[in-house]
Amino acid sequence: ARAYLDRISAHRELNAFLALDEERSLEQARRADERLAAGDASPLLGVPLAHKDVFVTRDFVTTAGSRMLAGYRSPFDATVVARLGHGAPDQGPGAGMVTLGKLNCDEFAMGSGNENSAYGPVLNPWSASRVPGGSSGGSAAAVAAGLIPAATGTDTGGSIRQPAAFCGITGIKPTYGRVSRYGMVAFASSLDQAGPMARTAEDCALLLSAMCGPDPDRDSTSLDVPAEDFSRALDAPLDGLRIGLPKEFLGEGVAPDVRAAVDAALAELQRLGARLVDISLPRTELAIPVYYVLAPAEASSNLARYDGVRYGHRARDYADLIDMYEKTRAEGFGDEVKRRIMIGTYVLSHGYYDAYYLQAQKIRRLIADDFQRAFEVCDVIAGPVAPTVAWPRGGHRADPLADYLADVFTLPASLAGLPGMSVPAGFGEGGLPVGLQLIGNYFQEARLLNVAHRLQ
Ligand code: GLN
Repeated sequence: ARAYLDRISAHRELNAFLALDEERSLEQARRADERLAAGDASPLLGVPLAHKDVFVTRDFVTTAGSRMLAGYRSPFDATVVARLGHGAPDQGPGAGMVTLGKLNCDEFAMGSGNENSAYGPVLNPWSASRVPGGSSGGSAAAVAAGLIPAATGTDTGGSIRQPAAFCGITGIKPTYGRVSRYGMVAFASSLDQAGPMARTAEDCALLLSAMCGPDPDRDSTSLDVPAEDFSRALDAPLDGLRIGLPKEFLGEGVAPDVRAAVDAALAELQRLGARLVDISLPRTELAIPVYYVLAPAEASSNLARYDGVRYGHRARDYADLIDMYEKTRAEGFGDEVKRRIMIGTYVLSHGYYDAYYLQAQKIRRLIADDFQRAFEVCDVIAGPVAPTVAWPRGGHRADPLADYLADVFTLPASLAGLPGMSVPAGFGEGGLPVGLQLIGNYFQEARLLNVAHRLQ
């Protein structure tokens, strides 16, 4: 823990961390030492990690990258934090990992480049002029730069997979409901899912095993499926595995350097015994408008709680209650969050609900059905995580929709609730990392980790 803390302070320029507290971290490390001395054999015991700043923690301030929550300290730990750390009274002892701090992210996890944080952008360790991806950009950058061996992230529409790809690390978004959302600052509740980000699939498997499992009293959408040992099948042979290649993921929209790296990874999978099958996910492009109706709709509802009354920022001078709400929210939220609240409120409003929200829900179902048809002829789906390598910082400033379009390959699995992961697949333009995306059917995380591990 000490060595990593030193490395973190030597690399402040990345702006990956929002909160550090050496004393609390070293206290957690001492507890891990005690557990080790008492014979605890948890494989993660004493291993340092840091959490994306959307997981609430008792030991560190939680801001979700927003001015709205500046200085906010939660009275409890998120389920994920308790399970990876030193547990909670009714959550068992926990894996015994040592939390080194909280990681920068796009405000309320809204973004694809980590340029929407109220606390400044995160730099990509491979090139300071490039974005690290988002919204879990701090998590990806910190792991890639060796500031921590592992991090948590959340993925609503790609926020684990895309920054993992842009920073050349490994990340997995499990099946929706695998991991409890209790204590995760809510963005779009029907899509939000936590997962691990680390160097390798092997590390992700250990982390995911410790994170997942039912949490029925705290998250009613957490599935009644017991935690698994995701490390058990890492070395399984790939002979005969059918890998589906959606033609919509490999068409014109993909940059040639990304295509070349993905093709090389696919050739390697063939060499390992997998068979490539052509498939189609015909509604891939519709995932963008569908997601950017549904996610803002849910966000507009979830963010109603930041009213200056219960917690978080409150405006200093106001005339009456309404004025207090208005000033608080005007000051507390950044531009992208305001944009989402306006879109979400609009699509949910009387007269537009049927035209936008309801229509989007129907297409969401069709997108999920397309995947089930695809899984009749293949076991795992593969393609790029993003159409390009990490773009230049400030590159999308003039056009926020450019960020939305770059999510095209991660949104479909999110809308369907399927597990998806990003595994390093070589390098593209400027020596920047490229990620291969693997998507599995529900509960097929072990299979994805197996394929990723064989590639590493
Ligand atoms: N880029 C997407 C968005 O801005 C996804 C973000 C996420 O997965 N948290 O909504």
